[in-house]
Amino acid sequence: MTEPIEELSRLCIHTITTKPWSLEEALDQYTARGIRAMSVWQNAIESMGAVKAGERIRQYPMEVVSYVRGGFFPSISLSKRQDAIDDNKKLLEEAAALGAPLLVLVCGADSGQSLAKSRKQIREGIEAILPHAESLGVRLGIEPLHPMYAGARSAINTLEQANDLASFIESDLVGVVVDVYHLWWDMHLKRQILRSGLEDYLFAYHICDWKVPTEDMLNDRGLMGEGCIPLRQIRGWMEEASFDGYHEVEIFSNRYWSMNQAEFLDQIINAYLNHA
Ligand code: ZN
Repeated sequence: MTEPIEELSRLCIHTITTKPWSLEEALDQYTARGIRAMSVWQNAIESMGAVKAGERIRQYPMEVVSYVRGGFFPSISLSKRQDAIDDNKKLLEEAAALGAPLLVLVCGADSGQSLAKSRKQIREGIEAILPHAESLGVRLGIEPLHPMYAGARSAINTLEQANDLASFIESDLVGVVVDVYHLWWDMHLKRQILRSGLEDYLFAYHICDWKVPTEDMLNDRGLMGEGCIPLRQIRGWMEEASFDGYHEVEIFSNRYWSMNQAEFLDQIINAYLNHA
């Protein structure tokens, strides 16, 4: 087994980044390159289930940083809101089985109602699953999404909104996820990152790049250094806020998923070392 390289000690890869690989392939390929942390997406464990996946992962020198992703609380339908709460409780149990200390929340939105109403339902959803999270010891990370997703994917679009929500709920288990793809444009980002740090809300840090032009709203994220996000500056703010967790590479890209994934992973490491 390759010894971890010091420079990669804080590198974490989301399994969705190398979506064509099975969980086993990802574990083999990541660890062979000295990567010691991964965030697990639901689709990667669908076939074997969380318990088996957790057992498999523990056979490797691999830390699970988070389980991705829960949330999607708002709906104009009461029964759908209840289904979302039940789903999230199940996801929390899967996170615990995987050994993931954090469930990442893509909060959701319903275009049939106002953003304010969706935000209220997000808060109610988090409050409803919080006792379950507490009993399992799994944290909840509110991930603000870029405003282009406000129609259907998330009514939480700035770090300020995520901080406000965490502050309102006031639990050690509820914090925020800073994803550069969603937040890089915000003129208040530095101030809000420092605030997250002061409040102990900084649960996770996701990196990639914003390509110009972006050809697909979901699946055209860039490799670090390929776009216009000031990655080193934002990393500096995270460090100033005393964040000492992993740098998680999360790239959805039809272009990269169609190439040889081993070569792509080498490119990720190179981009991480040179640009992140
Ligand atoms: Zn993210």
